[in-house]
Amino acid sequence: MTITPRGELAGVEASLSSALGAGAVITAQAELDAYTADTYWPALAAKAAGEPMARPDVVVRPRTEEEVAAVLEIASEHGVPVVPWGGGSGTQGGALAVHGGVVIDLRSLDRVIEVDENSMTVTVQAGKNGRELEAVLNAHGLMLPHFPASVEWATVGGYIAARGSGVLSTRYGKIEDLVLSLRVATPATGPIETVAVPRHAVGPELTQLFVGSEGTLGVITRATLAVVPVPETRRFAAVAFPSVGAGIGAIRRALQAGHRPSVVRMYDEEATRLAFSPVVGDDLPGVYTVLAFEGEAEAAALEERRTIELAREAGAEVLDPALGRRWWDRRYDFYHPPHQPELPAIWGTLDVVATYARIEAVYDALHAAVREPYRGVGLELRMHFSHWYAWGTMIYGRFVVPDGGPDALALHDRIWEDGMTAALDAGAVINDHHGVGIKLGPYMRRQHGAALDAMRLVKTALDPHDVMNPGKLGL
Ligand SMILES: Cc1cc2nc3c(=O)[nH]c(=O)nc-3n(C[C@H](O)[C@H](O)[C@H](O)COP(=O)(O)OP(=O)(O)OC[C@H]3O[C@@H](n4cnc5c(N)ncnc54)[C@H](O)[C@@H]3O)c2cc1C
Repeated sequence: MTITPRGELAGVEASLSSALGAGAVITAQAELDAYTADTYWPALAAKAAGEPMARPDVVVRPRTEEEVAAVLEIASEHGVPVVPWGGGSGTQGGALAVHGGVVIDLRSLDRVIEVDENSMTVTVQAGKNGRELEAVLNAHGLMLPHFPASVEWATVGGYIAARGSGVLSTRYGKIEDLVLSLRVATPATGPIETVAVPRHAVGPELTQLFVGSEGTLGVITRATLAVVPVPETRRFAAVAFPSVGAGIGAIRRALQAGHRPSVVRMYDEEATRLAFSPVVGDDLPGVYTVLAFEGEAEAAALEERRTIELAREAGAEVLDPALGRRWWDRRYDFYHPPHQPELPAIWGTLDVVATYARIEAVYDALHAAVREPYRGVGLELRMHFSHWYAWGTMIYGRFVVPDGGPDALALHDRIWEDGMTAALDAGAVINDHHGVGIKLGPYMRRQHGAALDAMRLVKTALDPHDVMNPGKLGL
């Protein structure tokens, strides 16, 4: 598994110990076990079978940003892979040391440097846990409006490196909309800071180069992010559309009219029945959709009224708003047993995004390529639309094969191949917010064409010894 020459490792460990102190350098096998799987299904299955698909040779826990730069320098000098690890909650295998080497666990870099209540920004180190950051901001009456369902485990660096999205994204944007500037260590440059504000005319905007780079270009060590006041009001609504197409049309019209619901979560009929109803505890009809509106009370009420009018015009039945509130209160239950599948089940999330002109064709393509053909093996495909833009939306297609099966990995891979091929053929982009990692690497050439060569050239310039997270992003 490892490509790190054994002879090199002793030298690497000695240099790391001298730079970070022996206590920050971990080589005990039992401790390394914790870094052999993130939440990528094949990694979880391989670990459970006692044959992990990745294992670092060393884990380091730097306490300062200077120490991060020192680790990159040592790794480059010895040609040893370096893999950033945030919360390890990624679903794409991005944090796995598939070629061995050094995992750099960033969770000790957890200082909140500054909360600027005037500019409404927070500057924070990259290893800060999402839930902990939220508590700090809430004490100032503020919030980072980025609430992934993994907020419990994920870190700020992981949010940014995987280009994530949260439950309120339809109003506040994805993480790339909230990042103002970054401090990053790359092997070629050492620590660098991007321009302090994201709107400027002092050359290209380098911040966005690192958003979504998944540790392949360097390590994000701190970020300045936009924050917002904890809203005065958050109102919920619930409607059932007669069809997915009717729902897409109504929400598109609302967003294009300038309304910004914070939550729009539209479950297709199968997802309403198999995912939504068991969590909220009701037997619900149709294409069930939760909406939330927030901010100043009067503005939120107006947005709600207008959006509901558009939903009614599209044939929606307006349901008890208490259902929306109940979904909100139980929204993390989807990710815990019994609602979250467990091994030996197979699961994965086909998370694709497209313009409104194409999204219904993409939905139909996933239905035809995944839902129908795999019914024979017991597959369920629960598709919902959860992050909406004025120009399009995304499909979160969670598939589950409850019984797994004798050749589970091959089946898992076949479902992915069929799903991704169908989505690309129908004009989708293959990921909205979970990132690429190992999982989607094979589709990056088809997704980007020659632009993948441009990414490779950028990587070669910033990481000339090719030590940063090798094997990821299809690079
Ligand atoms: C139950 C569950 C629910 C989820 N829900 C959501 C959701 O709602 N929205 C969403 O966007 N995602 C979601 N995810 C996926 C995942 O939690 C996110 O991608 C999250 O942002 C990853 O953060 P992390 O700190 O755990 O990163 P990790 O998993 O540790 O790493 C992810 C990638 O980023 C790199 N990386 C991490 N830190 C740094 C750094 N400081 N510098 C450079 N590279 C770095 C890693 O090498 C890896 O490639 C979910 C996952 C689970 C298990």
